[in-house]
Amino acid sequence: MSDISRRDFARLAGVGGVGTWASSAWAPFAIAQGAAKVVIVGGGAGGATAAHYVKKGAPELDVTLIEANPIYSSSFFSNLYIGGFRTLESLNHNYGGLRRLGVKVVHDLATDVDAAKRTVKTRGGRTYAYDRLVLSPGIDIKYDSIPGYSREASRLMPHGYTTAAAGKRQIRDQLVAMRDGGTVVMVTPNNPYRCPPGPYERACMIAHYLKTKKPKSKLVILDPKKAFSKQAVITEAFDKYYKSIIELNLTTEIDDYSVVSVDPKTKEIVTKAGKKVKADVANVIPQQRAGEIAVKAGCTEGDWCPINPDNFASKKVQNVYVLGDATVAAEMPKSAFSANSQAKVVAADILADLAKKERFPARYRNTCWSLLAPDDDVKVGANYAPKDGKLDPSGSFVSQRGETAEVRKQNFAESVAWYDSIISEMFAKPAPTAGKKKG
Ligand SMILES: Cc1cc2nc3c(=O)[nH]c(=O)nc-3n(C[C@H](O)[C@H](O)[C@H](O)COP(=O)(O)OP(=O)(O)OC[C@H]3O[C@@H](n4cnc5c(N)ncnc54)[C@H](O)[C@@H]3O)c2cc1C
Repeated sequence: MSDISRRDFARLAGVGGVGTWASSAWAPFAIAQGAAKVVIVGGGAGGATAAHYVKKGAPELDVTLIEANPIYSSSFFSNLYIGGFRTLESLNHNYGGLRRLGVKVVHDLATDVDAAKRTVKTRGGRTYAYDRLVLSPGIDIKYDSIPGYSREASRLMPHGYTTAAAGKRQIRDQLVAMRDGGTVVMVTPNNPYRCPPGPYERACMIAHYLKTKKPKSKLVILDPKKAFSKQAVITEAFDKYYKSIIELNLTTEIDDYSVVSVDPKTKEIVTKAGKKVKADVANVIPQQRAGEIAVKAGCTEGDWCPINPDNFASKKVQNVYVLGDATVAAEMPKSAFSANSQAKVVAADILADLAKKERFPARYRNTCWSLLAPDDDVKVGANYAPKDGKLDPSGSFVSQRGETAEVRKQNFAESVAWYDSIISEMFAKPAPTAGKKKG
């Protein structure tokens, strides 16, 4: 087995973002401890990518992926399903490709981590020993962050903000069942939360559905923030396409649109500013925190997990890496693109560590696309490198108001290619070809 070169490492560790590892003819690491065990909890954007590249880099390693669900229903692109641009089935992916690669995929809930003994326990009663542990559990919803909201209430007022397919389906089904002339209310969260532009892309997708199917209806957005991601281009789209439909209530010095109560029975929502809205359909997105297993492992500080920006090793627990939405990664937004990029760095770090090879400087990347209307898509992104204990952004870009239809259409094509690419990287399978667009 040949050693990895500096040039290869830079290429593999996320410099080029999505697609670099999958396409490279990449020389495996020679791992001294052939039987070293790597356990990964969470088979989403971060964890599945990490499992793929650790196993691919050193096939002799014992790699176990513990994932609660047999099917991963991606949150990314789920707004397109809500808007009618994609099927729910096209968001669903299984773990067959990772299994074929030799990853031991276990469908169980990890319930505890013993950092001293280096073991993970599961609800099914199994214990898994590890030499290196990777946690990528995503987010848990803080149901109590909104008075009146709860797990039970979320069935009537779905958040649709986790990988569970049910919440997304409920939002779509409730929209379809709603009368023309009804009121949809979106309650958006305060920073930090998963996918900063996500609620506003969703607003566009809901408004597109209303405009084309139920044009007498309204969408009221209640926002505790004063500003949001890609605001200039998103509000341009609100005006251009959905002026008669969307009412955006952003918090100002005078009015605070933080929600102070929701009633799932009457669907009445009240804000601090005293605004009361009765919803026919309510999409309530509460505050979030790192997935529970990160808390159990002792990796959290407050709601999130601090990490070393050089390699996403936990700052709190040895031999444990945390990546994706569960982390505080300074400016890096909580996105699937970020998690995938971080996972490649983590995989390379584990392989270099176990092979006792030199580590090379990490590079990360993020791009987030948002669909505003058919063929009108905007993006924001940046590169990141560790500097002075933080992640330092460079080369940032964001779509501008007044761009041509051609540019926006090209953005949409890029986003579809990205979706196929990240799915292929996560699940070690050829890029999907079916189920993209409805009709
Ligand atoms: C509406 C919406 C739109 C979005 N759009 C985009 C987009 O366009 N682009 C983009 O880049 N990002 C987007 N995102 C964000 C993206 O979905 C997340 O940032 C990404 O999924 C984070 O990856 P992760 O690995 O941290 O978590 P996840 O992908 O959520 O994966 C976590 C996995 O861990 C499993 N798990 C958790 N705890 C345990 C446990 N104890 N035991 C076993 N398994 C466990 C879960 O079942 C889950 O499969 C969007 C999000 C939303 C909600």
